[in-house]
Amino acid sequence: MHSVETFRDLQSEANEWRRYLHQNPELGYQLHNTARFVTEKLASFGINHIETGIAETGIVALIQGEGGDGPTIGLRADMDALPMDEASNKPWSSKIPGKMHGCGHDGHTAMLLGAAKYLASTRNFKGTVALIFQPAEEDGQGGQRMVQEGIMDRFGISQVFGMHNKPGMEVGKFGICNGQAGASVDEFDIVVKGRGSHAAYPHRSIDPVVIAAQIVVLLQSLVSRSTDPLESLVISVTKLNAGTAYNIIPEHAEMAGTVRAFAPGLRDFAERQIEACAEGIARAFGAEIEFRHRRLEPPMFNHAEGTNLAITAARGLVGPAFVDDKVKPGMGAEDFAYMLEARPGAYILVGNGPTASVHHPAYDFNDEVLPYGIGYWVNLVETTLAV
Ligand SMILES: [Zn+2]
Ligand SMILES: [Zn+2]
Repeated sequence: MHSVETFRDLQSEANEWRRYLHQNPELGYQLHNTARFVTEKLASFGINHIETGIAETGIVALIQGEGGDGPTIGLRADMDALPMDEASNKPWSSKIPGKMHGCGHDGHTAMLLGAAKYLASTRNFKGTVALIFQPAEEDGQGGQRMVQEGIMDRFGISQVFGMHNKPGMEVGKFGICNGQAGASVDEFDIVVKGRGSHAAYPHRSIDPVVIAAQIVVLLQSLVSRSTDPLESLVISVTKLNAGTAYNIIPEHAEMAGTVRAFAPGLRDFAERQIEACAEGIARAFGAEIEFRHRRLEPPMFNHAEGTNLAITAARGLVGPAFVDDKVKPGMGAEDFAYMLEARPGAYILVGNGPTASVHHPAYDFNDEVLPYGIGYWVNLVETTLAV
């Protein structure tokens, strides 16, 4: 097991990669320059099994250990940026207006590249490491597509591991959830179809604004009155649009929102009951609704064995005092959940220091984190695939 000092030598090179990626952010599946950069680096480390074009711009590269036969484990980094303008005022700020690495995926990519360079030159493990560089984490479900395109079977991956930086947690610290590690995400749209009229004569209308307002209020009571207070469910109405003038009652009101749940049963409950509530209220007023519901990420679970391996690897790097193994899960989602649905493993957080939060225009991945992330990956490989 290595301490972080082993990986200080990689710092300046990893800085360069990270800052290059930061200056050249790309979105979603359109990561052509990023994927080319990653592929070139991997090849320059002497890695010769590199498959590109998975889920459009995703990459899987294999490094064989010199410790004999063994299983294959997957290490995953996301590579995509966000559609926003940067305000970090760093010399390496985004060169592309409207695009920014606001979630630190530039750092995640650089850390996995650093680990790849180290592992390819030492190969002190049995079996195989599959480096998974995925597109479209932020909105496009790239993790799901890579699973659907068969990476787990094709490369014989038996366990998968992910990592994300966490602003507000000290650099050099790690945190991991035991079991539940993230919520499911669903989105819904409701169109209330009423009848318009002059606003001075409301009795001639079926007012979709009043109906939509009632629906918003009723949806809030689904969580507070119909679910176990000890279980976690969030229903947020996040869009509400209707009307064009002071004196017109409109025909339609449009609403949309998001559902976050831990338990699959609550997820099903929310899907059923949101529609039932909207329909019931609309019917009471003589209106109709159109309801659409979209399931996105599943809830994310860390598996026991993978979690223990991750904790061991992180403790070996920074000592037990710097690894919090009881992090409370949040209601956020992460598309690594698709990979953890397909294979056991674990997802760990690495402290990014006192930076702005992710998805904030002033955010920047903290380069001091690079040797910690690299070291975690290497320790994880040499622990899980110990010779
Ligand atoms: Zn993000
Ligand atoms: Zn992210």
